[in-house]
Amino acid sequence: MILRGLLASLLCLALCGQERPLVLKAARLLDVRTGKVEAPGQLWVKDGRIQPGAPPAGAETLDLGDRTLLPGLIDCHTHLLIPAGLGELGYLKRSHGALLLDGVVNARKVLEAGFTTVRDVGAPAGFGDVALRDAIARGDIPGPRMLVAGPSLSITGGHGDLNGFPPHLHTDDEHIVDSPDQGRHAVREWRKRGVDHIKIHATGGVLSNHDDPGAPSFSPAEFKALVEEANRRGMDVCAHAHGDAGILEATVAGVRSIEHGSLLSLATAREMKARGTFLVPTLYALESILLPGNPYHVPEGSIAKARAILPLRRAGFKAALDAGIPIAYGTDIGVFEHRQVAMDFRYLAAYGMTPLQAIQSATVVAARLLRLETEIGTLEAGRAADIIAVEGDPLKDITTLERVSFVLKGGKVIRQAP
Ligand SMILES: [Zn+2]
Repeated sequence: MILRGLLASLLCLALCGQERPLVLKAARLLDVRTGKVEAPGQLWVKDGRIQPGAPPAGAETLDLGDRTLLPGLIDCHTHLLIPAGLGELGYLKRSHGALLLDGVVNARKVLEAGFTTVRDVGAPAGFGDVALRDAIARGDIPGPRMLVAGPSLSITGGHGDLNGFPPHLHTDDEHIVDSPDQGRHAVREWRKRGVDHIKIHATGGVLSNHDDPGAPSFSPAEFKALVEEANRRGMDVCAHAHGDAGILEATVAGVRSIEHGSLLSLATAREMKARGTFLVPTLYALESILLPGNPYHVPEGSIAKARAILPLRRAGFKAALDAGIPIAYGTDIGVFEHRQVAMDFRYLAAYGMTPLQAIQSATVVAARLLRLETEIGTLEAGRAADIIAVEGDPLKDITTLERVSFVLKGGKVIRQAP
């Protein structure tokens, strides 16, 4: 695919440069594919890649002590250009330039937290996410490898529209799609602007006014046109969807992943399984909307929606586990503070995943969702040298991933806490 060629060259741009071999040693190394722990753990990197065999004599060695080495983490649902707690009114007050600067700051926070790759799924108008991705790939600013979507595509009055304001107030509406032809046009336009994938809103949402998270949005013909056209341009589609009907319609249309999936039924989960559709659950985001004291200034209407969905979501997640759908790690950071990008691990575990499954969701499974499984997601020789280390053993305490103390991206040391 054209897209994968482009990604490979971007990765090379970001990786080339390191000459001197670097050996990493730690008490443990986790093989995320099998769950096997090597103790002690050791690997070596050169030219931005993990190398096979034994390191050459005289290589620089970094001993990380009582830590566990893991592949760099992957968040498949971020909004780097959206500051936490912005809200719809905040949108109207902030310029595209200001939002892009927010993205620069957030990109660094996420990388320092151990996330070396993100799939960004919806940025404000202006395609600042494309510019941010490219600046990071050039090495101009620190940040994770990014796959970007541009603005999410939505129906009039849907989750991506600004609802509840008087009609004379004009807002960006390029991303509003109300027919199959408009869908095809938007996808082509987004491709021209340089996005990697397409994000659509298949149902209403929580943090939007006057729409129903349970109700589907696009017509079946619109879904079909959006996915067909994206696939023809070498792009996958991911679909925001809470209600089961919208999840099913988006799945049947052929989207690559369902985002949130709160009210998923077992029957729909089985359909996803049969078609190879991924689920990206974003568990903590809903909790963060209901935090005591409402630190993100969420409006009453959205709090009521979150309260209604929360008790039903556990059954949805259980359906996904029972059906054996691939579940990829995603947070929805932007709804909450970007620094807390590792918060979902504890919720994945609380909702029934083993610690190893939760780690796999943010490494091997996420890499597969992004079609980058030969580049990232494991510590095998030949992969990009995206490596993190945490204190102790994450298989015994998953919350240790909230305190990543060493980050290497493309062979370059990003963070090394004492
Ligand atoms: Zn989101």
